[in-house]
Amino acid sequence: MSARGYDVIVVGSRVAGAATAMLLGRRGLRVLAVDRARFPSDTLSTHQVQVPGVARLHRWGLLDRLAAAGTPPARDIRLDTGGVVLAGRYPAHEGADALYSPRRTLLDALLVDAAREAGVEVREGFDVDELVRDRDRVVGVRGRQRGGGPVTESAWLVVGADGKRSMVAAAVRAPAYRERPASTFACYTYWSGVAVAGGEFYQRPGRTVAVFPTNDGLTIAYVAGRAADFPAFRADVEGQYLSTLDGCGDLGARVRAGERAERFRLTPDVPNAFRVPHGPGWALVGDAGLVMDPITGQGIGNAFRDAELLVDAVVTAVEGGGRPDAALAGYRARRDAAAGPMYDLTLDLASFRPTRAVDRALFAALKDRPAAVDQFLGVLSGAIPMSRFRAPGNLLNLLGPRALIRVAAADLLNR
Ligand SMILES: Cc1cc2nc3c(=O)[nH]c(=O)nc-3n(C[C@H](O)[C@H](O)[C@H](O)COP(=O)(O)OP(=O)(O)OC[C@H]3O[C@@H](n4cnc5c(N)ncnc54)[C@H](O)[C@@H]3O)c2cc1C
Repeated sequence: MSARGYDVIVVGSRVAGAATAMLLGRRGLRVLAVDRARFPSDTLSTHQVQVPGVARLHRWGLLDRLAAAGTPPARDIRLDTGGVVLAGRYPAHEGADALYSPRRTLLDALLVDAAREAGVEVREGFDVDELVRDRDRVVGVRGRQRGGGPVTESAWLVVGADGKRSMVAAAVRAPAYRERPASTFACYTYWSGVAVAGGEFYQRPGRTVAVFPTNDGLTIAYVAGRAADFPAFRADVEGQYLSTLDGCGDLGARVRAGERAERFRLTPDVPNAFRVPHGPGWALVGDAGLVMDPITGQGIGNAFRDAELLVDAVVTAVEGGGRPDAALAGYRARRDAAAGPMYDLTLDLASFRPTRAVDRALFAALKDRPAAVDQFLGVLSGAIPMSRFRAPGNLLNLLGPRALIRVAAADLLNR
C-alpha cells in the first residue's frame, strides 16, 4: 500500500467509477474518485439497467433510493420479433424482478452520493492529464481542478473508469482483444404523453427498437440501425426515426400523439472490445475495460458486475500483503467468463443477420408457453446464459424432435 496518498485513485465517476469507489470505500480503503464532469449531468447513453444490474443496486442498498426518486420499474415486457409477439415477465434474479431505466442524471449522481457516504473523496470538475510512474509502475495521476493549477496525487492503484475512450487505457497501452468495429448506430429521444405499461422491443429488418418508461413521466424510445444506413438516417433524423417507429405496430401513432420532450441523440460510436484490465499499479473497469454495442443494453450492468469483481480482487490483494498481480489476473478471468456469452450474443444481434429457421421455430414454440417466454426474457436481460436456453435438451423440450431436426437441417443448408 502507498505510504502516502491514497490506496486507490479512480479516474471517472459514473456508473463504473462511482460504484467501484463506493465499494472500495465500504471495504475501508482510502479512495479518491475524480471526474471532469460535475453531477448531476447527462451522458450519451440510454439507461436500461437490466435485472442483474438492478439486483446489484438492491444488494448495495440503493434500489429503494432509485425507486423513491420516481424511477418506474418495467416488469411486463412485450417482444415483437417481426413475426411472433412474445409477452412475459423477467424471472426473479437475486432479489430483483424488473428492469429500471433511470436517467443518467439521477443514477450517476446517486452513485456519487453513495461513494461520498462510504468515505470516498470525490472531486468533480477534475481533469486527469496523465499518469505518474515509478519505473514501469503507475503510482498516481497528474491533473487539475477546473480553473486551477496542476495537481499530483499518488496511490497504490490507479483505476481507469474513464469510459470507452479511456485515457488510462491508452496511457498504459492496455491491449485490446476480441475487438469488432461498430456495426450499428443508435438514436433516441424522450416523449411525454406516451404511456407504456412496461418495456417494448421490436425487431425489424435492419432495425431494433426499445421503449421504456423513465423518470418525470417520460418515455424513452431508442432505435438501433445498421451502420451502413447511418448517413441516410443522419440526413433526416426525425423522419427516419419516426418512420422506423411507424413500422412497429401502433407505436408510431402512439408516439406521434405524444410530444417530444427533448432533442434527438444520435451516435455511430458504438465499438466492441475487451481490454486487458490490469497491469503494474493500474486497473480498468466499465467501458474502459470492456465495451459492447448498446443494442443489448448491458453496459451499466457490466460496469456494476466488474466493479464488484475488481473490488474483491483489490481487497484480496490488500489482505494478502499488497501484491495485486495474481488477484487482478483473477479479476480478468472472472470478468471475461461472465461477459463472454453476452458479448457474443450482442455481436450477433448487432449484425442484424436474418432470423434463422431455428429462431423462428423457437419464437413460434415459445408463444404459448409463458414460463419459457419468461426464461427467454431472462436470457435477453443477461440473467440466464443463452447456452443454457439453447441447450439441446431445452430445444428438444420446446420444439419436439421432428421440428428440431427440420430446423437444424434448414439452418445447416442456409449456412
Ligand atoms: C447510445 C448508447 C446507448 C446505451 N444504452 C445503454 C443501456 O440502455 N443500458 C446500458 O446498460 N448501457 C447502455 N449503454 C452503455 C453505457 O452507456 C456504458 O456502458 C456506461 O456508460 C459505461 O459507464 P462507465 O462509467 O464505464 O463510463 P462513462 O459513463 O463513459 O463515464 C466515464 C467518465 O469518465 C470521465 N473521464 C473520462 N476521461 C477523464 C479524465 N481524463 N479525467 C477525468 N474524468 C474523465 C468522463 O467525464 C465520464 O464521466 C449505451 C451506450 C450508448 C453509446
